[in-house]
Parts: sequence; structure tokens; C-alpha cells
Amino acid sequence: METRARNLGFPRMGQRRELKFALEDFWAGKRSEQELLHAGAELRAAHWKLQREAGIAVPPSNDFSFYDHVLDTAVMLGAIPRRYGCASGPVPLSTYFAMARGRSDAPAMEMTKWFDTNYHYVVPEFEAEMQFALRSRKPVDDFFEAKTLGIPTRPVLLGPVSFVLLGKISEAGQTQRQVLEAILPLYTEILSQLRAAGAEWVQIDEPCLVLDLDAQAQALYRAAYAYLHAQSALPKWMLTTYFGGLNENAKLALELDAAGLHLDLVRAPEQLPAVLAALPNNTVLSLGVIDGRNIWRADLAAAHAMIAQAVQALGKDRVEVAPSCSLLHSPHDLNQETKLDAELRGWLAFGKQKLEEVAWLAGAVEDASRIAVAMQASQSSLQTRAASARIHSIAVQQRQQAMDATMLARKNPYPVRRKKQSAVLGLPEFPTTTIGSFPQTAEVRSQRAAHRAGKIDTASYEKFLHEEMERAIRVQEEMGLDVLVHGEFERNDMVEYFGEQLAGFAFTQNGWVQSYGSRCVKPPVIYGDVARLQPMTVRWSQAAQALTQQPVKGMLTGPVTILQWSFVRNDQPRSVTCQQIALAIRDEVSDLEAAGIRIIQIDEPALREGLPLRRADWPEYLQWSVDAFRLAASGVQDATQIHTHMCYAEFNDIIDAIIRMDADVISMECSRSRMELLDAFERTQYPNAIGPGVYDIHSPRVPSVAEMEDLLQKALRVLKPEQIWVNPDCGLKTRGWPEVRQALASLVAAARQMRTRIEAAVD
Ligand code: GLN
Ligand code: ZN
Repeated sequence: METRARNLGFPRMGQRRELKFALEDFWAGKRSEQELLHAGAELRAAHWKLQREAGIAVPPSNDFSFYDHVLDTAVMLGAIPRRYGCASGPVPLSTYFAMARGRSDAPAMEMTKWFDTNYHYVVPEFEAEMQFALRSRKPVDDFFEAKTLGIPTRPVLLGPVSFVLLGKISEAGQTQRQVLEAILPLYTEILSQLRAAGAEWVQIDEPCLVLDLDAQAQALYRAAYAYLHAQSALPKWMLTTYFGGLNENAKLALELDAAGLHLDLVRAPEQLPAVLAALPNNTVLSLGVIDGRNIWRADLAAAHAMIAQAVQALGKDRVEVAPSCSLLHSPHDLNQETKLDAELRGWLAFGKQKLEEVAWLAGAVEDASRIAVAMQASQSSLQTRAASARIHSIAVQQRQQAMDATMLARKNPYPVRRKKQSAVLGLPEFPTTTIGSFPQTAEVRSQRAAHRAGKIDTASYEKFLHEEMERAIRVQEEMGLDVLVHGEFERNDMVEYFGEQLAGFAFTQNGWVQSYGSRCVKPPVIYGDVARLQPMTVRWSQAAQALTQQPVKGMLTGPVTILQWSFVRNDQPRSVTCQQIALAIRDEVSDLEAAGIRIIQIDEPALREGLPLRRADWPEYLQWSVDAFRLAASGVQDATQIHTHMCYAEFNDIIDAIIRMDADVISMECSRSRMELLDAFERTQYPNAIGPGVYDIHSPRVPSVAEMEDLLQKALRVLKPEQIWVNPDCGLKTRGWPEVRQALASLVAAARQMRTRIEAAVD
């Protein structure tokens, strides 16, 4: 085993998602707390052993969590908002889960995305006069737990400054500086306990060092680490950065003078030379050369070359080898994938395989001959992949080369299109619609599962889907909606549904990664040039349109969202893959139009979350991503109306990009923020039509007609009446039919009230 081979964190869920099932059983009252704790301990032990077997002599500890490591940190430091009523003493598991998931008397804490991953963390809340205190010793307990098993570990802590920067000041009278000052003695205490327990090194994660940092944040860093340096009897720490390069923060990071520094050299290999040149004597450098965020087998020769460069500059005793970031974002073990074909499998590496790669590379620092066999295998895998006919489609590449700018723009500007569309569609003011999906009831899901398992044949499954669709159409007619949808009953997931029908995509059986708490996602793998093989949605939309006189909206997932929610090939830029997906969607849009569908929605809920971490990188991303949307949307006649949909608010920063998408109508989530989001649209005078959501589909509560009208009145302050559409915040798939009927009836009533008022005002 290589002491130089390191890992920064291992996936928590378990090989068969044991943690998910243990948690969900516990929440449902089907397992005791004892049983849950036992399941956690078994997973930790299994994962430490697996990592040792893969060649990591000192695996991380305290990377495991029952929900989220940021929440664990908040609990450890006593950052427990007072609504949970747990002012002192040890924090029971019930309080921990109440913070994560809410309780009848206390809503859950907010969750948000962890940097640019699909993992969500619980956002710490800092209240005025919060009583910070050491309320748990989880890092120490986990360290001892491993030690008892005979396994030395390197504990992981979320660093104090990232903890503060990732949280939010929830009440006046509290500042980031005060929070930092309050928690530093607690970090000192936990660090010295770790030292006393035998930990020579700890890993302190400060991923915020790869973000744009203002002067205040930089000052927090200096203050925090000066404080820790002044303490005695602490372990050495590996200051760990990931998800990007330090860039202009490199100077700051080096000033913090940690005993070790970890760099993400997958996302930012270019930072290596400057850091090598400036690294203080004796500092250990951890080289994150194996991609913790994607599923491709590494180019060992390239990684080896980078390591050799570091060894030459620093000497081998100052070099460690590691994945770029925690393997939290990787699936567990490729060996479980028995259904992938051998060729494709040979191109992939999941968590366990990545650690083997790390160990080979670390071994090669001592003796280069030890990597010869692995290097050979890596090279031949890369070569077969590069040469494989499955990856390269001449037709797709030729089409990309032949593209011209006219394909990125509609034939005429919005005002011209608007006239033609209203002539064809004849919709009233404040037209009503929904976002696409209707309830995915237990029956829909069980029929789908039965069909997948081969227990019912395709004909009877599709008959069932048609009946569901017809029911949804009748309900929409009965409720009086203007633009109908077919309900998306045939779709399991808005990305998987399209991926399964496109060339260049593969699906794993167990490639799960944690999204939040017990929730996992299984992203498709885009391994080759993407192409549409045949129409994907046309027959459903056409069948739905045949059932009604009202216009039925075609429903597609946009190229950026498909890209964003997949594991993407790493042998060409993301923008190129995105453009291929856009071409496939464009063909689908044309076919829908030719089939008589007059309104087509292209969902892009993930466009905003694809934004790079650094502002300087935004313009490039927004250029190609918005271009991809335009490419998908612009092949139609002026009279065909293109909608798009986005959720998760915060559009202020990207309003110009949204305008540039030039959708005829955009619907978005607004009701929870009480339309505050529209401020951006006021300032920049959004030119096209908008449906600001008036019904929060995340809540089982159905708002009244008056509430919805009130939201629409608010929208009228910033938008012209002819711009406004009336719709829910998002798709209705998680809701039940009774609530949906009630909500849609109210929504239509609210729109009708608005129409009468506007007419009265005009008269
Ligand atoms: N059309 C999708 C639906 O209604 C949109 C989902 C989303 O925005 N995430 O379910
Ligand atoms: Zn949505």
C-alpha cells in the first residue's frame, strides 16, 4: 500500500445504496435508531476496507454523513437555529433530521447546490447571538472507530472559512467575522482532540478558495489561519481545494502556510507550474490528478507526467497523489455494471477504480516500472476509445461543420412572430397553461416498472399511457385551460427519456451519485457523437392533439439540461457535445411542427446551474449554451410558438442571456419568492412573453384564487398585460390529482378575473 496515495472522500451510499434504504426505513418508522446507526457503522467499515484494498493506506474519515457534511459541521459547531429548540447538550438524531427535512413546527433549512455539482448541501443559518459550542465530536468518534478496526485515517473537516462563506446570515446583528471568531476556538478544540487521538494529519477542505473572493473573504482567510497557526498541539493540515484553479487566490492560499496543499489538476492543470514555483519549503503538495467528477478511465501517462514534474521540483517526499476532489461525486464501483458491453466498460472508472489509478500513480513515484502494466492498459483503452466507430459519426461531424449563423436565429424578430402566432392560435389575454407533467401516480410508476421487467407487453402498457393521457386532456378541458399538454406519462425522467432514444448515450445499472440526503441520481453517460435515430415524442404529441380542439404543446428537454444532467465525454469540449444534442432536438422540433403541433416547449431548467464558478468564465458559457438553445429552437416558422421553462429562481445575473434565448414565452418559478424575481425583468424590460409561476408545486398546499390574482397583480407592475401567461411554477408530476384539479381551477379563475379587470380598465 502506498502512503503517498490519498483519497479525499468516498461515496457514502454503499454499493447497493444501503444508506438510502436505511434512512428511508428509519424515517418511515420501519427501522430503529439503533439499526440506522449500525447500518452507518457497517458502511464506514466496508468503505475503509475497500479503500485499503484499492491501495489507499490511510483513507479519509469523517467523510461519511447521515445526510450532509455541511449539516454535520453546523451541528458540531452548535449552529442550530432556535426554531429546532435544541439549545444545549448533545444533538439528538431527531433534531439533526429536523434541520435537514423539517418538522411540523419548524421548516427545514434551505438546501442549495454544492458549487457546480449536483450535490445539495444544507445551508448553515447564522442567527443573531447564536450560541456556538462544540455539540458533537463526530470527527473524533469516526477516527477512533476506524482506529479500533486497525485502520489509520486522515480525518476530513470542512474548513472554517468555507463553512462561514457557504452559510447565510439569517438575522441582522450577526456578521461573518463574528461567526468565524466564535467557531475558531471550536475548531482548535476538535483539532487538538484529533491530535491527541493520534491523527498526525487532517484534511481541511477550503473549496471556496477556487471562487472569486472579495477583500472581506480574503481577510477572513488570513484571520482564520493566523489564528490556527498560533495554537499549539494541532495536527498538520492538508489545505484542500477543488472544483477549479486557485488562480489569483494562489498567493493567498500559499500565505495561509498550511503543511500541505491539495490542487485540483483535472479542472485546472495549468495552475501547477506557478504553484510549484511558489510553494514554501517543506510544504507537501497533493496532486489531484484523477477526475472525481466524471466516470472516464484516466490517461495515466498524462497524470504520471504531471506528477513527475512535481517530484522533480519538490522531491518525492513532498508529493502525494489523489483524486481531484472527493469521490462523493462518483459512482461506487464499476464491477457492478454487468450489463454494459465490454468495450464501453473498458473506458470507464468508478470510485473504486479511481483509487486503484491513484495507487498505481503513487507507486510509480517510488519505482516507475510498477506502473508499466497499468499504463499499457490505460493507453490501449484510450486508443480504442479514440478510434472506436461507436464514438465518431461522420454525419454528425459534417453537419456541425456545415452549420451557419442563420440556423441560430428565428426567421423574424419577436413582434413579427407574435402577430402571426396570435392569428393562428387566437388565445385570450392571460393565457393559461401548465409546465408539462401531470401526476405520476403509483399506478403510472408500477405500470412502467412492470413494462420494464417484461411483465406486461408494450401494447398494453401504451394503451394504459393513452388512457392516462386522455384523462389529463379531459381534465384540462374541463378546467378551462387554453394551452394543453399531454402529461408526460411515458417519461421516467426528463433527461433519461431522451437519452434512451439518442445515439451516443449509455445507461448504467448502478451509477448512482448522491443528490441530497437519501436521494441519488443516475446520470446517463454520453460517450459518443449524439444523433437522433427517429422521432422521439411526435406520436405522443400527435395523439394528444387528436383528442382536442385546444392547442397541445409539444414537450422537449433542452440541450443544455440534457448535457448538464449527464456524465459528459471528456474527449471534446462540452460545447461541441451540447451542439450535437441541440441538432437532435432541432430535428424533433421540426418534426413536431410538421405534425401540426403549433406550440413547442423546450425546457432548460439546468441552464442557470451550468454557470461556471468564476465570473470571468460566464460569458463563454452563456455564449455557447444560449446558442445551443437557439439552434434547437430556431428551425420553425414564425407562426410556431416556442416556449421554454426554467426553475430555481435567481435570474438576475443572467437576464441578458435569457433575453438572448429569444423564446416566445418563458415560464418560470416565481410563487415562493412572491414575484420578487421579476425585478430583473423590470430593470431590463424583458421583450417577450412570460409565465411567472403562481402555484408552488413543491408544496401540497393549494393557493386560493385571490392569492394567485394577487401574484398576477404584482407581475403587472413590471410587465405589460399582453406579456403575461398564467401557469404553475413547474411540472405537476409530484402532486396528486385532487390538488391538481383544485389548483388548475383556481388558476383559470384567476386568469379570468384578470381579463375582466383589464377590459374594465380599458373601457
Ligand atoms: N416539463 C417538465 C415537467 O413538467 C419540466 C420539469 C422541470 O422543470 N424540472 O415535469
Ligand atoms: Zn421546472
